[in-house]
Amino acid sequence: MKTILITGGAGFIGSHVVRLFVTKYPEYQIYNLDKLTYAGNLANLTDIEKAPNYTFIKGDITDAKFVDDMFAEISFDGVVHLAAESHVDRSITDPMSFVMTNVVGTVNLLNAAKTAWAGNFEGKRFYHVSTDEVYGSLHNPEDFFTEETAYEPQSPYSASKAASDHFVRAYSNTYKLPVVLTNCSNNYGPNHFPEKLIPLMILNIQTNKPLPVYGKGENVRDWLYVVDHARAIDTVFHTGKLGETYNIGGFNEWKNIDLVHLLCSIMDRKLGREAGTSAKLITYVTDRAGHDLRYAIDAHKIMNELGWQPSLQFEEGLEKTVDWFLANQEWLDNVTSGNYQTYYQGMYANR
Ligand code: NAD
Repeated sequence: MKTILITGGAGFIGSHVVRLFVTKYPEYQIYNLDKLTYAGNLANLTDIEKAPNYTFIKGDITDAKFVDDMFAEISFDGVVHLAAESHVDRSITDPMSFVMTNVVGTVNLLNAAKTAWAGNFEGKRFYHVSTDEVYGSLHNPEDFFTEETAYEPQSPYSASKAASDHFVRAYSNTYKLPVVLTNCSNNYGPNHFPEKLIPLMILNIQTNKPLPVYGKGENVRDWLYVVDHARAIDTVFHTGKLGETYNIGGFNEWKNIDLVHLLCSIMDRKLGREAGTSAKLITYVTDRAGHDLRYAIDAHKIMNELGWQPSLQFEEGLEKTVDWFLANQEWLDNVTSGNYQTYYQGMYANR
């Protein structure tokens, strides 16, 4: 029997991690702590919300007292920490909320775990989920990020995630807290909030809106299906070596513009439109400030040492993703009502 805290479990990746842990480990008690920001949505978890081994706790990781009280009340064996402000564009307009949640929130959780576990670390584990963006941008086409690549974060988002990674390692070094970290490439799949590239394009193609592509669309990202990330998190949580970092990626690099063209052709086919119809909606907009050119992950360590590998080819994953969005119109309508419209206008109206 294990009692596990998953933070940010109502978000995009967190909901897939919660579902995997709740269904795969009925003998575990899974607690999902989430503030339910604009990105948190309990509708992501309706299929497992009544499971006897699942409990939702609404709360804010920036509130140290709340976090301490929760750790005093519930005896956690492990923490899988995903709660974060996660969107680079929002970090450019509001960096402080990223410092608060990503840095202060992470340190609050580290402190609470350190106090609750009080030096008795047998069977305990604090797992911090992070991003490849902490490594900065690659300029040489042959280069990949490895676990040894020096941190060079370029956006307020990646700076806040880098700071949180450093705190997690510092707690391991200073207080011997049993930690493990992963840095993953861009995820895509069901439940992805439509401020991010792939769901935004699917939504706008569907509704015949312009498809805003930053700069010339030359930026390169490595894409991984979200369920494969959740599988990797399960693997590292259970078999990763304490104190280690593992990079997670799909060896699947795409230029943004090529990805958008691929999505357009899939959507034309799914919606019964003439080939080339959706691509006419592509609109180049002023580039994101400080936009990193290329991210690419070398995931050999987790593959060779822990035996994880991605299960889906990209085209297959994209088809599944498009099918999910087309079948879940109500989910999309709910998350794009209200504040989403204000955000969208602010982002793209004058570019
Ligand atoms: P998300 O924005 O979809 O979800 C974040 C969740 O955290 C939401 O449910 C939100 O309500 C919750 N949250 C935010 N602030 C909180 C607070 N103060 N207290 C409690 N809960 C709070 O993010 P995501 O894309 O699912 O990313 C999850 C984690 O994975 C993040 O740590 C992110 O840095 C990391 N990551 C994301 C990607 C990606 O491609 N999305 C890639 C690599 C790593």
